[in-house]
Amino acid sequence: MNILILGSGGREHALAWAVKQNPKCDRLIMAPGNAGIAGIAECASLNIEDGGAVAGFADANAIDLVIVGPEAPLAAGVADRLRDAGISVFGPGLEAAKLEASKAFTKTICDAAGAPTAAYAHFTDRAAARAYVKAQGAPIVIKADGLAAGKGVIIAQTVDEALNALDDMFGGSFGAAGAEVVIEEFMEGEEASFFVLCDGETVLPIGTAQDHKRVGDGDTGPNTGGMGAYSPAPVMTPEVTQAALDQIVQPTMAEMTRRGTPYQGVLFVGLMIKDGAPRLVEYNVRFGDPECQALMMRLGAQVLDLIQATAEGRLGEVQVNWADDHALTVVLAARGYPGSYEKGSVIGGLEGFKEDSKQMIFHAGTARRDGRYIASGGRVLGVTARAASLSEARERAYAMVDQIDWPDGFCRRDIGWRALD
Ligand code: ATP
Repeated sequence: MNILILGSGGREHALAWAVKQNPKCDRLIMAPGNAGIAGIAECASLNIEDGGAVAGFADANAIDLVIVGPEAPLAAGVADRLRDAGISVFGPGLEAAKLEASKAFTKTICDAAGAPTAAYAHFTDRAAARAYVKAQGAPIVIKADGLAAGKGVIIAQTVDEALNALDDMFGGSFGAAGAEVVIEEFMEGEEASFFVLCDGETVLPIGTAQDHKRVGDGDTGPNTGGMGAYSPAPVMTPEVTQAALDQIVQPTMAEMTRRGTPYQGVLFVGLMIKDGAPRLVEYNVRFGDPECQALMMRLGAQVLDLIQATAEGRLGEVQVNWADDHALTVVLAARGYPGSYEKGSVIGGLEGFKEDSKQMIFHAGTARRDGRYIASGGRVLGVTARAASLSEARERAYAMVDQIDWPDGFCRRDIGWRALD
C-alpha cells in the first residue's frame, strides 16, 4: 500500500512509526513531516488544508490511503474532498469534525444523545452572557465556541475573572472562534482521555491515556499543548470505560449517523470522572498529542490494519491485540515555552540512539542544519518508553531524557504522578 499521512508533529511521527512497521506499507509519504519523520518516510511539501491539492497529490502518487493527523484539515473538509474523489481516507468529514470545531455543536449533540456532560448555556450576546455568569456564580468555565488551539478555555475561579474572560472573547481576542461563547458548569473529578475508532457503525476502543497540560511539575504554571502522557489511565477501569461507551460514545455516534453525517475516524473522548461516573469534557476528532505517542508505542504495527478497517467500514471484522503493557511519553520543550522561546539551538545525543519497539524519540519541532538536529518549535521531542509496568516505563523514559544533550530544552520531571505517586 502507498500511504500518505498529513501533519508534522510528534503525533504524526508516532503514527508513521507504527504504520511503517506493518508489512502492508510499501511507500510512506508525509506532508509536510519534520526532521525526525524524514528518517523513516519521504516528506513532501503540500498545503494540507487544501482538499483539492491533497487529492491531486494522492492521485499523482497512487496513494491507497490518506491518514489525517491534525484537526485543521478535517475542519476544512479535506476528508470529504478525498472521499468525493474516490480516495480512501481516515478522518471525519467537515460536518462530523464539528464535534471538535464547535463546542456549541457538541453540546447540542450531547442533548440529543442524552450524553452526560457539564450543564451549559450558549451566547452570542455579551450582556446576556454577563447576566448568566452573575446568576450562576463561580467557579465557572468560559469557552470560545471555535478552534482556539487549546487556549479558548478559561476556568474562572471568581465572577470577575469570568466577566473579564467574556469581555476578552466578545472583544475579539480569539477572532471568529470567540464570536460565540459556551458557558459551562465547572466539573470536579479526574480527567482521562479515551480513544475509539468509528466507521460510521461500529465503535472500537483502542486505549486510554492521561496527559499533563500544565507546564510545571505538580501541575503548576500555564497550560500547554501537553507536556507528557501515559497509557493506560488507571482511572479508566473496565466499568468506567463501559459507562463511557454506553452513555456517551455510542449515543453520540448514533446521533451523528441519524443526522446523515456518520462519524469515521478516531474519536478522542475527553472525560471527567467522579465517583466512577464519566462525564464528557470535550471531543477531539483526531489523536491527542502526546497521548498518541504512548498509544502508538503500545499498539505498534496493527495500527495500520485498524485504520484501514476504519476507512473501509470494516471495523466489525477486526479486533485489537492487547498487550498487558504501559507506555509513557515525556515531552522536551524549548526553554520559555509556552511563552516566547528561541529557535535554532542544537540538540545533541539523538544520533545513534538505539530506537526499538520499547523506546522511541518522536520528533515534533525539529529541523536539520549542517547535519545536526536543531529545535524549530515549542514542543520539540516526545521521549517514549514501553514496559511491563508504568513505573518501569517512567524510569526508562527519564533515562533516555538524560542521554539527550540539549541545554536550551526542559521537561517536567513528574510525568505519571497521578498514577504512580
Ligand atoms: P484542548 O483541545 O487543548 O484540550 P479545548 O480548547 O478543546 O482544549 P476543552 O478540552 O474543552 O478545551 O477544555 C480544556 C481543559 O479545561 C480541559 O482539558 C479541562 O481540564 C478543563 N475543562 C474544560 N471544561 C471544563 C469543565 N466544564 N469543568 C472543569 N474543567 C473543564
